[in-house]
Amino acid sequence: MASAKRDKKKKKYFKLRKHRIWLPIIMFFVISVMIFFIMLLLMTVFAEASVQSKLTSEYSHIMAVTSVYNTENGQQAALDLMEKENWTYILRDKNGKVLASRGDDTCGEKESLLYMEYNDPDDDEDTVKVVKVPTYTDTERSFLSADSDGDIELEYMKLLRNMAENDELKKALSSDKDNEKSLGQAIETIKIPIWLSVPTDGDSTLIVKVNVMAQMTDIAAMLVAILAMIIVMAIVMIIIFIHAVSNALYQSKVKKLFFNDISTDGRSWMWFLFNAEHILRKRKWAKTRFAVVDLTFINYRSFCLCHSIEEGDRVLTAIHQMIAKSLGRNEICARNSEGTFDLLLIEDSAQQAEQRIKELILQLEHTDEAHRFAFHAGIYMVEPVENTSGLFPRRKNVDIEEYHNNASNARSALDGREDSGVSLFDSKFMEDQRWRDTVQEQQQKALDNEEFVVYYQPKYDPRTEELRGAEALIRWQSPEFGFVTPYRFIPIFEKNGFITEIDHYMISHVARDQKRWLDQGYKCVPVSVNVSRAHFIESDLAEQIRDLVDSEGAPHSCIEIELTESAFFDDKKAMINTIMKLKAYGFSVSMDDFGSGYSSLNSLKDMPLDVLKLDAEFFRGEAADTERGEIVVSEAIRLAKSLNMKTVAEGVEVREQVDFLAQQECDMIQGYYFAKPMPHDEYEQRMKQ
Ligand code: C2E
Ligand code: MG
Ligand code: MG
Repeated sequence: MASAKRDKKKKKYFKLRKHRIWLPIIMFFVISVMIFFIMLLLMTVFAEASVQSKLTSEYSHIMAVTSVYNTENGQQAALDLMEKENWTYILRDKNGKVLASRGDDTCGEKESLLYMEYNDPDDDEDTVKVVKVPTYTDTERSFLSADSDGDIELEYMKLLRNMAENDELKKALSSDKDNEKSLGQAIETIKIPIWLSVPTDGDSTLIVKVNVMAQMTDIAAMLVAILAMIIVMAIVMIIIFIHAVSNALYQSKVKKLFFNDISTDGRSWMWFLFNAEHILRKRKWAKTRFAVVDLTFINYRSFCLCHSIEEGDRVLTAIHQMIAKSLGRNEICARNSEGTFDLLLIEDSAQQAEQRIKELILQLEHTDEAHRFAFHAGIYMVEPVENTSGLFPRRKNVDIEEYHNNASNARSALDGREDSGVSLFDSKFMEDQRWRDTVQEQQQKALDNEEFVVYYQPKYDPRTEELRGAEALIRWQSPEFGFVTPYRFIPIFEKNGFITEIDHYMISHVARDQKRWLDQGYKCVPVSVNVSRAHFIESDLAEQIRDLVDSEGAPHSCIEIELTESAFFDDKKAMINTIMKLKAYGFSVSMDDFGSGYSSLNSLKDMPLDVLKLDAEFFRGEAADTERGEIVVSEAIRLAKSLNMKTVAEGVEVREQVDFLAQQECDMIQGYYFAKPMPHDEYEQRMKQ
């Protein structure tokens, strides 16, 4: 689920990263080319239409002559007529052989000639085309034609047939030509030579050169039309271009915002994610070790509080510049959040990376002359991946967020330290973290299901070896994890505050057991219950304990409260107050693990305690049996006695120690020599004995 979410996030990053600056530009060119061709087409159609309209009258003349030619004995008359009218023409038979011609300008020799073919009016397909012919040879007969309206043509035919029989035709044709000439003189014209072809009845083809007289006004109109089209095209192209450019600029602005860090003017975390992944995935770096470093300026918040956020940003910028300066090629850094920077370094080993970061921190500590800063860094090494053939393929599964998380976990081991430090990630970090999370998830359920059980460790009189007391010690019988020792979960509960629930639970269970044993007629001895330091914040702790014991109906005298030594560092006044109250309610109070800290003597001075528990460290290791060790223990016992306190020696495992403690008049021994912590039933048996 989480990885799917991460993949989605990644896709989003990549989409943003690969923003398409080219797309609008390509679109711009495609649209431009399309517009160009559309305009070219429009212009061609326009030109053809104008030429065609000009050709219609010329075509009628040729039709008239062809009609004459088609009449019986009309061939010579038609040729004479064309001779007279000074027409340039060719008459060909169906094989292309020239039957007659006039003028040196023939359509067979010219390039770019427009050739027009007349379709038989009887033919249904009345379409006529105008096409450019590059060359015209006898074999390649590419005929071209202009549209003709069947009706008009028929009228002409009729008229011309009549005219062919009399001399009027000459007049009609010449007057037409004269009119054209006079018109041509009046208006400035341009001649456009075009060849028109009309088939005659006798399988021959009459091809006549006509000059289309294009008037300047027509050309001007055409030029205006072309100009208008060019302007429209230019405007459209400019609009598209402006849009494309502004879009590209906008995108690059967004990208800059996204990938730049405003506070340091450096790179953002998002940028780091992309680029670190990019570097790590490269084939050329497949064999290289990288260090992902999570570096925190731990005084950032307090600095901003004392000064201002602007001042904080100024320091961050200076820190960023110093880090950036220390980077080599292909090494990157970016600010992650607040005072945290992430670095990707090329380092041969974790030790080298550690050394390098230590040196960097030494410089960073003096970023500001007036202040001394501290930095915590966590390092996670990204190792090359070797396959079974001993090769190093390109890293495929790169997860920068996970690497960063590992580095940051390594760094969190330094939490609470006020001086600078560097911590390397190892897999134990991850395991611990996972375990912490699991315990936190399960704690309430475990409590509700009574998975926590009370073990009792008896305390014996070293001289008489009689049972004189016991300590209640918690165990977790987890259906999932099995038997779990308190060292694995008590520190977690102490941190997250759940320890208060546990302490209540233990006091209630011990009081309940004691009450039942008393009711069953056992000679009960006091059982001590550990009360954690975290609990002492509550001012009504004594009342809480009293109420819990009372609700089980056990006498207060059979419960002893053990305070761990660290608890004495807190508010001394409140502590003394609670101890006094507990004693007033009839509970005895002991100091646990005496001697494991360094102000225990001082605490003894002020605390009106009943029992002193000598820490197991006194009886562990080689030093335990030396003369010096014995002097310390015997003096501690003497001190306790003179303060009216009983003594319990913890962690005693051997007979010699028992004898020595008996000699020193130690009141009780709690250790494996006599008994290990045991379940309720076993302890019951001990009581019977
Ligand atoms: P502690 O209160 O000092 O308990 C004594 C620890 O020393 C116990 O470990 C006990 O099993 C162990 N021990 C006793 N005799 C010997 C010995 O001869 N040799 C050795 N090697 N060990 C011996 P345990 O039960 O694992 O408890 C560890 C610590 O966890 C306790 O230290 C105490 O600080 C805490 N703890 C245990 N139960 C509770 C509880 O119910 N509430 C609170 N707040 N803390 C608890
Ligand atoms: Mg204890
Ligand atoms: Mg202890």
